[in-house]
Amino acid sequence: MSKHYAVFGSPITHSQSPRIHAAFAKQTGIGMDYVAIAANHDDFRAKLDASGVVGANITLPLKEDAFALCAGNVSARALRAGAVNTVLRDGAQWRGDNTDGLGLVRDLTERHGLDLRGRRTLLLGAGGAARGVAPALLDAGIHSLYVINRNSARADALVDAMGEPGRTHARAWDTLPALGEFDLLINATSASRGGQLPSLAMALVAPRSVAVDLSYGEAAVPFLAWARAAGCAQTVDGLGMLVEQAAESFLLWHGVRPDTAAVFAELSGRADALLTAD
Ligand code: NDP
Repeated sequence: MSKHYAVFGSPITHSQSPRIHAAFAKQTGIGMDYVAIAANHDDFRAKLDASGVVGANITLPLKEDAFALCAGNVSARALRAGAVNTVLRDGAQWRGDNTDGLGLVRDLTERHGLDLRGRRTLLLGAGGAARGVAPALLDAGIHSLYVINRNSARADALVDAMGEPGRTHARAWDTLPALGEFDLLINATSASRGGQLPSLAMALVAPRSVAVDLSYGEAAVPFLAWARAAGCAQTVDGLGMLVEQAAESFLLWHGVRPDTAAVFAELSGRADALLTAD
């Protein structure tokens, strides 16, 4: 009998995760079904428990809720991130993990051929996605990480959680123009979902800079267009990360890591039509 899986979040209608996991299941011959379930802070736990799933992905805005829900039953990387994007049923409890960081690093290094070592890095946002990618970027050897967030307390908390005060720094938006050039600029905010682009300074960009938006499709356009106009050497959207983090979740649930190349190629062929990322 097929086991049930799902992705929880809001908005969730345009999530690509059901399509990605269906492709992985077909490729590996594993019987499963995977659906998208809309949930918010107030009803997430009840919906997860009632869903009958044995595993789930958790997306915006629930990754920190999922971390709390797992009550310490989390992997080392989820503990460091303070955010969970993958849960597995563990008896009457849920076990949490975070595959976002590995997904981003795999996409940047293996698909896009980037060497992350030594890069002075700017991270815009301090929500669940930023928390997931920050430890993986540090582990991949970036030089330093500057975290900017609208709510400065969240940026402070992220930096504190990394436990590397010499390499990680929280800064306010209004200090951005004075921070100098960055080799890697990552937009981990959800601002563009509301059609907004946070105010950014051209002085952040050098000719060698790479800009990454964790969103893809229309949502990635404002930041990546700004990055190209500012002179970035390369721009990358979040579609590859989406497929890679999904493959890592699939591995946790089924013990098999699917091949991501064909799924990425299929999705990128229609990326312009995609409205949202997970
Ligand atoms: P959260 O809701 O947890 O965090 C949202 C972040 O965006 C916060 O830092 C928030 O700041 C900031 N933000 C929202 N609106 C604005 C604005 N108008 N101006 C400045 N900052 C703003 O969401 P996630 O962290 O889970 O997701 C963030 C983005 O990453 C989403 O677009 C999501 O689709 C994408 N993503 C992509 C993945 C992939 O695989 N490609 C995986 C995970 C996420 P504040 O704290 O001040 O509210």
